[in-house]
Amino acid sequence: MATEAVTAYLGLGSNLGDRQANLDRALEFLGQRLRVKKISSIYDSEPVGNIEQPRFLNLVCEIVTNLTPKGLLALAKGIENKLGRIGGHSGAPRTIDIDILLYGDEVMETPELTVPHPRMAKRAFVLVPLVEIAPDVVHPVTGKTAKELLKAAKEVQGVFKWEGV
Ligand code: ADP
Ligand code: MG
Repeated sequence: MATEAVTAYLGLGSNLGDRQANLDRALEFLGQRLRVKKISSIYDSEPVGNIEQPRFLNLVCEIVTNLTPKGLLALAKGIENKLGRIGGHSGAPRTIDIDILLYGDEVMETPELTVPHPRMAKRAFVLVPLVEIAPDVVHPVTGKTAKELLKAAKEVQGVFKWEGV
């Protein structure tokens, strides 16, 4: 299902195996199906929620795609499966997690997909890399820019630029 080209933002995270390689491979797979225009630095972050698990590496990328939101979610899930994510519950350790943060100024809420991502405004590990590549992108529900959301977020500690191993 093709629509017009839309600019969207994806949040990638990994806390299992070779985390940097997992992020790289996910970006490579994404690049085969859409245009990856900007990639943030990699950030090392504390797990949120279930804290009894390894730290994450996170990044955010800006993409341009003709895929619909559902097509994009299907692609993301396909890549998660290919990279061997251990199914299980939300919040479990994963080789790769791909979240759709923003899809143009689309606002939608269905059982399988909510856009903008419902927890992005609270998550420093999403907002810090997003601000790095798109400080002025506007959240279509709150009308706030990424920079404003980060300023308003309470818990911004625990996210560090990753210098590699
Ligand atoms: P989380 O990313 O919050 O840790 P999961 O990755 O386990 O949780 O995702 C659980 C489900 O969330 C996915 O199967 C997907 O259908 C749904 N979902 C809803 N909105 C989104 C979104 N914007 N991006 C990615 N997945 C989403
Ligand atoms: Mg997810």
